Amino acid sequence: MSLTPLDDVQAAVLRECLPLIPRAIDLQDALGCVTSMPLDAEELVPPFDNTAMDGFAVQAVDTTDPPVELKVVGTLAAGADPSDVRVGAGEAVRIMTGAPMPSGADAVVMVERTHTEGDVVVIDVRATVGEHVRRAGDDLNPGDVVVDAGTVLTPAHLGVLASLGYQRVPVFPRPRVGVLSTGDELVEGAGDLRPGQIRDSNRPTLLALVRESGFTPVDLGLARDEETAIASAVERGLAACDALVTSGGVSVGDFDYVKAVLDRLGSMRSWQVAIRPAKPLAFGTVHGKPVFGLPGNPVSSMVSFELFARPALRQMGGHRRLFRRRVDAVVAEPIRRRPDGKLHLVRVVATVGEDGRWRVRPVGGQGSHQLAAAAAANALALVPDGEGVAAGANVKVMLLGADDPS
Ligand code: AMP
Ligand code: MG
Repeated sequence: MSLTPLDDVQAAVLRECLPLIPRAIDLQDALGCVTSMPLDAEELVPPFDNTAMDGFAVQAVDTTDPPVELKVVGTLAAGADPSDVRVGAGEAVRIMTGAPMPSGADAVVMVERTHTEGDVVVIDVRATVGEHVRRAGDDLNPGDVVVDAGTVLTPAHLGVLASLGYQRVPVFPRPRVGVLSTGDELVEGAGDLRPGQIRDSNRPTLLALVRESGFTPVDLGLARDEETAIASAVERGLAACDALVTSGGVSVGDFDYVKAVLDRLGSMRSWQVAIRPAKPLAFGTVHGKPVFGLPGNPVSSMVSFELFARPALRQMGGHRRLFRRRVDAVVAEPIRRRPDGKLHLVRVVATVGEDGRWRVRPVGGQGSHQLAAAAAANALALVPDGEGVAAGANVKVMLLGADDPS
């Protein structure tokens, strides 16, 4: 089978993974979700004129010639109802931050600029009209758009929506993603390994990648290398999920059944992608839902998730920016390779130098089974076909995980 360029495979996969149908979800669950329509204010924020300082509400005109003595006629704390409180000429009301301005008053004098003697307050400064007063609607007015459609909701967005009384928000739902491991050699947990067995490491990795990307992971367990076992796990998974990620069983070995199952249950395409690692990829849609058949080698399955599944799942979640951030970096140690017609995704440690430029050095152990070395990396260098990159030269780098501020 001939090799297909990475971009072509990514485009083919993205075409099949359309955004999920938007729905209203609880505000508390919406962090990181993408809004499906603009959200506007229906009320004033703040809802009433209030004080920004602890101090005294006064008529500014009374303070033109400080120091002046004013009669204290009341106290207003945050949450107090101001309707019975009025500041007349020569009067002041003791007031706490956030409390509503009493009628008659048009300025607040900070408590630090006053001292009290019984029910009299001495004001030491001249106040100007509106001083230390937060006006109703200073932040938002009815009709203001507070969050545009397509916004990735941050904690601050949730706060501003809460300040307007929103309890539910219309968003693209977080895709629920089932993760299934396939392979007769795999065992779960900490027990002794019998000859030929290895522990399932892809499932914890992929479940965590799903979670880290802001999707909802669903653990579908392990399936034996057997068509019926894989088919029933896929059917079970699709009943509960928006998409599935499987690992193993997509190469050309004798017991690689994932492709056969996807072909039987839905429509399946597979590629030999012109990359290393993660060359084989099977991708199917079953009951209209995407299934990513990732290769079994641990590093390959991770890289394959990053390149194909994550952007497609982000598109399903309504994101407009689908891909990890790419930066130019200086190669600190040479990255060697041989021409083979493939783009190499070299596991590297990327750091920012004092000059603000990214620098990368490859981690030792670039085999697609060498997960320990890959775990030390925080980025993938995209090394084009050829002889590699010399020290001091530039390379494009895809930042992963916490180092990608997306
Ligand atoms: P396969 O793609 O099924 O041919 O698997 C390729 C290699 O990846 C084999 O060495 C498998 O043992 C290994 N492998 C497959 N699935 C897993 C897994 N879930 N955890 C760790 N290694 C795996
Ligand atoms: Mg296998």
